[in-house]
Amino acid sequence: DMSNAQVMKDEQGRPFIVVRDQGKKKRIAGTEAVKQHIVAARTVANIVKTSLGPRGLDKILISPDGDITITNDGATILGQMEISNHIAKLLVELSKSQDDEIGDGTTGVVVLAASLLEQAADLIDKGIHPIRIADGYDQACEVAVAHLDEISDEIPFTRENTTNLLKVAKTSLGSKIVSKAHDQFAQIAVDAVMSVADLERKDVDFELIKVDGKSGGALEDSLLVKGVIIDKDFSHPQMPDEVRDAKIAILTCAFEPPKPKTKHKLDITSVEEFKRLQQYERQKFEEMIQQIKDTGANLAICGPEIELIAIATNGRIVPRFEDLSPEKLGKAGVVREMSFGTTREKMLVIEECANTRAVTVFVRGSNKMIIDEAKRSLHDALCVVRNLVRDNRVVYGGGAAEIACSLAIEDAAANNAGLEQYAMRAFADALDAVPMALAENSGLSPIEALAAVKSRQNNEKNSKLGIDCMQTGSNDMKEHFVIDPLIGKKQQLLLATQLCRLILKISQVIVPGEEGS
Ligand code: ADP
Repeated sequence: DMSNAQVMKDEQGRPFIVVRDQGKKKRIAGTEAVKQHIVAARTVANIVKTSLGPRGLDKILISPDGDITITNDGATILGQMEISNHIAKLLVELSKSQDDEIGDGTTGVVVLAASLLEQAADLIDKGIHPIRIADGYDQACEVAVAHLDEISDEIPFTRENTTNLLKVAKTSLGSKIVSKAHDQFAQIAVDAVMSVADLERKDVDFELIKVDGKSGGALEDSLLVKGVIIDKDFSHPQMPDEVRDAKIAILTCAFEPPKPKTKHKLDITSVEEFKRLQQYERQKFEEMIQQIKDTGANLAICGPEIELIAIATNGRIVPRFEDLSPEKLGKAGVVREMSFGTTREKMLVIEECANTRAVTVFVRGSNKMIIDEAKRSLHDALCVVRNLVRDNRVVYGGGAAEIACSLAIEDAAANNAGLEQYAMRAFADALDAVPMALAENSGLSPIEALAAVKSRQNNEKNSKLGIDCMQTGSNDMKEHFVIDPLIGKKQQLLLATQLCRLILKISQVIVPGEEGS
């Protein structure tokens, strides 16, 4: 029953979900409970559905203290919504898992999961037990995942020739706020990943890529530094603004004259005593400086971001001055102050680091909202490129892969004599939700667009055909370089199927301390 769950708005216009509590009177259980969970899931999915794809709409989110976020990233939208329904929360988690593992496809996975659940509701009405549905879904998912392997293509690239990676990154940025600077952001994403990538081991350590931002300037002023940028300047104007061949003491302790600890009462009754204290502090400070100099260091850094500095310069973080020693110093070819744009603000850049692979992307933009969304978009692009380094097999987007899997599952279902056949068909139908949402968001008629592409895929045995969201006149997604990494698409299917089983098995939600819900 649709009227159970509603999207309401609070006084600031922030959406939240109310699922009317039927359980006040009687405790609901069994399939009735499962169906209510499905309603809650659908409500959440409907919110993110409109942001799917290159023509998806951005959302404005306003936090309780008035912070504004503009985004079309599913994980972000869901993460910032105040959701009290337990099942709805599971969808938020789902989107987060996809984000953690793959970093992309966070909206798609929610749309798919909700669609699977919706199909399940119909099967429950037909009298099929939720567990049998979950079993059929598992079988269908297996067919789909195997089919993805079959239809996957390889995207060739080398360290020298990254043209293909650039194209993929550009597609990923196409629907985002940064689209006007997407050539530049794509290049930044590819360069960043390639500078830290270990192509032999097919490994990209994201720890080595730092994305920083500061408001001021335009998106086009964003840049990649093969090193580390730190929001500090040299602490004294008389210091040089560049240190070559830097040997860096990396300290967690503050580098300042010792302060008397206030918990010990300090009685100063005369000028002499005060002078003695001053003398003592000065002497201690000089000792500290000497300790640093003795190790051979020509630069000391303390405060935040020291972990990154330590990784980049192959140094060790030292908690106390006494622990300093030459082999613990970080090393960098050059540490210099860099000024940005029109403002006089300065930052420290550490380049030619001992561990040269660490890089920093520095995002500029006119305000924090733009920068935050640019950072999220860049993160997506970084993820897509990273995923291709890990495994360069891809399937085609625009719903092409979903349609291909849907057809494969239909075939397999026909050969299943058991009840699972129904669940498999339902799974095949559920996959249609993705191309349909893409079509709808692009102003196309969802059913017509889907029917046209599906029949062509079937007749032409061509799994590259998808929804032509950008109205280019061609449905060939390979032509437009609209791809999804194979591992990302598999992950979406597996996570969504897993979540369905979980929800289909929950026949009751018992909240400690809450009265009979
Ligand atoms: P997600 O958060 O799930 O990645 P997006 O809003 O980034 O969601 O949309 C991704 C979907 O849009 C994928 O299904 C992808 O194949 C599709 N897509 C992206 N660009 C295009 C395009 N130019 N034409 C058709 N489909 C596209």
